Amino acid sequence: MSELSNAKIHFNEQGTPVASDFDDVYFSNDGGMAETDYVFLLHNGLPQRWQNHTGSAFHIIETGFGTGANFLLTWQRFRQHRQQFPAATCQRLYFSSFEKFPLSLNDLTRALAIHTELSELCQLLLAAYPLPLSGCHRMSFDNGSVILDLWLGDVNTLLPEINSRADAIYLDGFAPSKNPDMWQPELFTNLARLSYSGTTVATFTSAGLVKRGLQQAGFTVAKVKGFGRKREMLTARMELSAALAEPETLEVTIIGGGIASMCTALALIQRGIAVHLICEDDNIAAQASQNRQGAVYPNLHANLTPESQLHALAFLYARQFYQRWHNAGLNFAMDWCGLLHLATNEQLQQRQQKLIDKALWPESLVRAATANQASVIAGLPVNHSGIYYPLAGWLSPQQFCQQALYFLQQQAEFRVSLNCHVAALTRQQDAWLLTTNTGEISATKLVLACGSKLASFDQSKVLPLNKIRGQVSHIKQAAMAPLKTVLCHKGYITPQWQGLHCIGATFDRLSTESVITEQDDQENLQLAQAQLQHPEWLEDTEITGAAAAFRATLPDHLPVVGTVTDQPGLYLFGALGARGIMLSPLLAELLACQICAEPLPLNLSLINRLSANRF
Ligand code: SAM
Repeated sequence: MSELSNAKIHFNEQGTPVASDFDDVYFSNDGGMAETDYVFLLHNGLPQRWQNHTGSAFHIIETGFGTGANFLLTWQRFRQHRQQFPAATCQRLYFSSFEKFPLSLNDLTRALAIHTELSELCQLLLAAYPLPLSGCHRMSFDNGSVILDLWLGDVNTLLPEINSRADAIYLDGFAPSKNPDMWQPELFTNLARLSYSGTTVATFTSAGLVKRGLQQAGFTVAKVKGFGRKREMLTARMELSAALAEPETLEVTIIGGGIASMCTALALIQRGIAVHLICEDDNIAAQASQNRQGAVYPNLHANLTPESQLHALAFLYARQFYQRWHNAGLNFAMDWCGLLHLATNEQLQQRQQKLIDKALWPESLVRAATANQASVIAGLPVNHSGIYYPLAGWLSPQQFCQQALYFLQQQAEFRVSLNCHVAALTRQQDAWLLTTNTGEISATKLVLACGSKLASFDQSKVLPLNKIRGQVSHIKQAAMAPLKTVLCHKGYITPQWQGLHCIGATFDRLSTESVITEQDDQENLQLAQAQLQHPEWLEDTEITGAAAAFRATLPDHLPVVGTVTDQPGLYLFGALGARGIMLSPLLAELLACQICAEPLPLNLSLINRLSANRF
């Protein structure tokens, strides 16, 4: 991830941002937005095309995000379209943009300051703007009706990692003469692969190389009058035999009542899909999502492993996701108070040192802390150095699930069946038949998101799922009240909430029942005391309660998300281990997009690693 460097920019006399390394402007000196409107929107038939678009989502691909000006104007126009034509079929805009040299947040803030007419949207973009980590950063605006996928990295490396076709393409980027690396033949062939009959392209340049590249890839190209003083620009169109439209998904049935299920339900309902949630308990969040507080932070490795890339991207997405739903009125407890991982043994210390030395991850995500710094950050004296995740924190998964259910129950397209145990699944013509204790239920699309029971059906039993019982203890200790961050050693301690701290968690591979034991409470306490070298603030602690549940994992420690070969309409989602709070938002979004055939928020190589068919 450190291969990404921020753009080096300066501003010319007109105040237009210029890329120093390319000696080219981000937008024209004669009024950036007018050029965007003319070149990219008008010549892709926008906004008019949205009125008659037959799909519920419209997908634009852009090469070169730059200052985001093209995105911002397109967003503004789409907002206007939705206000003017609320009943139009097209309800959502996906904007996938690629950027190899992202502007720093400071530079972006300055560059956007001139677009006073778009200042509200600029502020929203700046607030969501990601850290410079390679991969897809999904941002959701206007209640999910505008989705920006900012893909950081080289466009020619990343385009092969997506497979969602575009309706329109903004072929931007610095001039071919100044940036020949980008304008390679594979750029055009990949864009052709991502086009279907009727996909349009517009670009500011009229360079022969671009014209020939598009033609050779199969586009029909035309030269038209350029913007302002520019003589010419290019437009293009793909003419293919029309692909068969997939039947639209109308309803999805989800088995499960934990955080993975709730996030999936929210992602689907936002897309106008009806959801039937089936949960065998008498309330949701009764299993692994029942915890009072759960730490939210990525598990980062010194090298870019699939697991740590997933964790970094999912973590950043989760923060935005929870904040967004919190802002929308879901009243659950969370606090982005930071997290310290103390190096309480030699092995951990070496691993952390390697992570810091390799410097793969930006300091704003993770950095070293001496014992003194850690004590200041924690608000309590600690004896170990460690690493600090300033963006991490905790949230209450149980409250989140309850609040999500409350929200969902106010939506006409949602229904829930509690105390409903699904014993078996059978395929019948075009649907799944669920045999339950309350009768048979039919489902055209079915998601299994049932935690430790994920592999309990004939259709899913190939998964080598491990079930590990874990117990979290609730403790009361006035001396610990100053704790300001989540504190991890081999286990973890959360800051207090409603007078209690959570301390956990045990790992019990043998247990077959999720019972609460006193022995586990003692184990949690003794482990923390021993690891932290018996600090005074952990003495005379009162244990007031506990929660125990099974966490499910797969041998490669990666979750499972997606379809199952030869089981049409069946999706698996699980093996989130102790990371359900962090992983669920992004993976639920991925699943919803897979179900709805919409652009996916992760690169294909990572998605393949999560596939159910890997077993
Ligand atoms: N569309 C932008 C806007 O609205 O502000 C302006 C784009 S600017 C003219 C060109 C952008 O392409 C720059 O941000 C540059 O860093 C990016 N770029 C250049 N080569 C690239 C590559 N190989 N892959 C991805 N992005 C690239």
